[in-house]
Amino acid sequence: MNIGYGRTELADVAARQMREPRYYNIFFQTTHVPAIALTKKLSEISPKGFNKVFFASSGSEANDTNIKLVRTYWSLKGKPEKTIIISRYNAYHGSTVGAASLGGMIDMHDQGGLPIPDIQYINQPNWWEEGGNLPQEAFGLARAQELEMAIQEYGEDRIAAFIAEPIQGAGGVVVAPNSYWPEIQQICDKYEILLIADEVICGFERTGNWFGSQTLNIQPDIMTIAKGLSSGYQPIAGSIVSDSITEVISQQEFYHGYTYSGHPVSAAVALENLRILEEENIIKHVREIAASYLKEKWEALVDHPMVGEAKIIGLLGSLALTPDKNSRAKFAAEAGMIGKIVRERCLSVISLCETSRNAS
Ligand SMILES: *Cc1c(COP(=O)(O)O)cnc(C)c1O
Repeated sequence: MNIGYGRTELADVAARQMREPRYYNIFFQTTHVPAIALTKKLSEISPKGFNKVFFASSGSEANDTNIKLVRTYWSLKGKPEKTIIISRYNAYHGSTVGAASLGGMIDMHDQGGLPIPDIQYINQPNWWEEGGNLPQEAFGLARAQELEMAIQEYGEDRIAAFIAEPIQGAGGVVVAPNSYWPEIQQICDKYEILLIADEVICGFERTGNWFGSQTLNIQPDIMTIAKGLSSGYQPIAGSIVSDSITEVISQQEFYHGYTYSGHPVSAAVALENLRILEEENIIKHVREIAASYLKEKWEALVDHPMVGEAKIIGLLGSLALTPDKNSRAKFAAEAGMIGKIVRERCLSVISLCETSRNAS
């Protein structure tokens, strides 16, 4: 909820839009004013050359759009065999059949017969967990080079795209070593594959810029957006696509859409959310006040005997807990157990705070 709780401006806009009777879906060559206005605003705040948005109601749906979009793109370019999308183990891209297949969470794949064909995975740039004896930057480089190895293994003529979150969110807030993204970018540029940045968590100023791609200097071809687009006030999401993709896709009808894609109430609320983010200069606030304060306090937590690493970019950070910092040892408990204990502790502190606030 990037603009915070209880913003009545958004409720007012929603009510006004609901009383407006004109509505038609935006599936087949049709549109409406709130979707046009929101697209215009999104193209203004996106990096240069992003002027088209395929709307959806959730990040998962938007990533499903991306699967069809990149495969259709290559097919229209006369390369229908370019269908493989490379993702990363432990990535999170949503819960639908397509999006959960794009995600690299093996436990999710075990349910429902996933993944769908032609999705492949490389390892995540999680140095703390998987870095072994390598220094961070060498590890980052090695993990990025797995993309090149995968391209060589499956063949450039088979690969449509690489998808990644600029900072992995649900998979444990994995901030890659500095060497990682420049190498990934160089590999994507060298071979003919598209880069999809899943901005669902990083987007809308969470990292101190409109998009995480800008913070990490990534040049994607498609950006998946959701969550912060409406600060969570309405379900709305989308894929912002570059002009070079738009040009190809619009050569014929793209048979894709959801009835509620870019629903006028959601679109109007998202537009108002972006207006507030801009008018209240929240980027500046995140960069200069909130994030710098949080960074100082966050990084000081490494002084705690059980905190091995405290990483943070903007308002997105992680703590690595360990019984022995030097060896980056894991706890003896079953994997995931310590996280659960900490979570329960945090929730009970929140409810304690609420009880005391209610009492006073
Ligand atoms: C939450 C999330 C999604 C899925 O969005 P939904 O709206 O829950 O479908 C996709 N990608 C990332 C990076 C996410 O964090």
